[in-house]
Amino acid sequence: MILQNKVALVTGGTSGIGRVTAIAYAQQEAKVVVGRRMDEGEETVRLIQEAGGEAIFVQADVTKEADVKAMVDKAVSVFGRLDIAFNNAGTVGENPSLIEQTEAEYDRTMNVNVKGVWLSMKYEIAQMLKQGSGSLVNTASGLGVVASPSQPLYTASKHAVVGLTKAAALQYAKAGIRINVVAPGSIKTDMFEAATDEVKAYLAGLHPIGRVGTPLEVANAVLFLSSDMASFVIGETLMVDGGSVCSAVVDRQCEMFDTALQATH
Ligand code: NAP
Repeated sequence: MILQNKVALVTGGTSGIGRVTAIAYAQQEAKVVVGRRMDEGEETVRLIQEAGGEAIFVQADVTKEADVKAMVDKAVSVFGRLDIAFNNAGTVGENPSLIEQTEAEYDRTMNVNVKGVWLSMKYEIAQMLKQGSGSLVNTASGLGVVASPSQPLYTASKHAVVGLTKAAALQYAKAGIRINVVAPGSIKTDMFEAATDEVKAYLAGLHPIGRVGTPLEVANAVLFLSSDMASFVIGETLMVDGGSVCSAVVDRQCEMFDTALQATH
């Protein structure tokens, strides 16, 4: 039990990667706080309790400072402290061509994906500083490290999450707070299941492993980063992507190598 007696907060814990991670935290005996959509949040709590864990649901919109503060306050008032936070709430948003994107779409993507992580860290770290320890994991994406031409705003927002994580990690390393970021490839969540077979096959093909990942595979990486097993890991971007970003780099290198070879003949 690597998280025994720890209190963990999960944003975006109502579905997908966040829900599976919240349950995985509880299986490691952490007490868990999740939340936004009421029914789905209550369902996550029920699944955790069924597995013998302890959890509460706090309805919080991560783009609203008062909500985020209240969420952290509630975790501390119910469980007495906050040891771990998984800042995972995010949105893919609409992604038409850049010139068609609206200001409202920009604000929504940046507010959920970037402001939400910043606000969450702000109140979580403030609490952890009082305790002298803590561990945060933020969720970026493969698109926090490389770009997709079809997703400029999402790509920008997830690059920002990686940058925010690194700077915060450096700022609080000496205070006993570790901050890292997980970067999933395509993961089999509801959104993936809703795609056509053609899109599913395309997405699987982007990963050298030959398939997309599961929420549990991301949760396992988050568990490691959250726990004391990662005690010397700070500011790290952990790719959980079946090799897709690695292969993007290798493909480019091969292309450059071929071009250089052709130039010498
Ligand atoms: P998901 O099932 O749609 O989960 C998104 C979560 O974010 C939901 O629980 C949602 O809660 C929450 N959320 C969205 N806006 C929020 C807000 N303003 N305030 C509070 N919570 C909010 O999708 P997922 O795939 O598990 O995504 C989780 C994270 O992984 C996201 O950051 C996503 O960008 C990232 N990611 C996913 C993939 C993938 O292939 N699935 C790949 C790379 C990165 P409510 O619905 O209850 O509001």
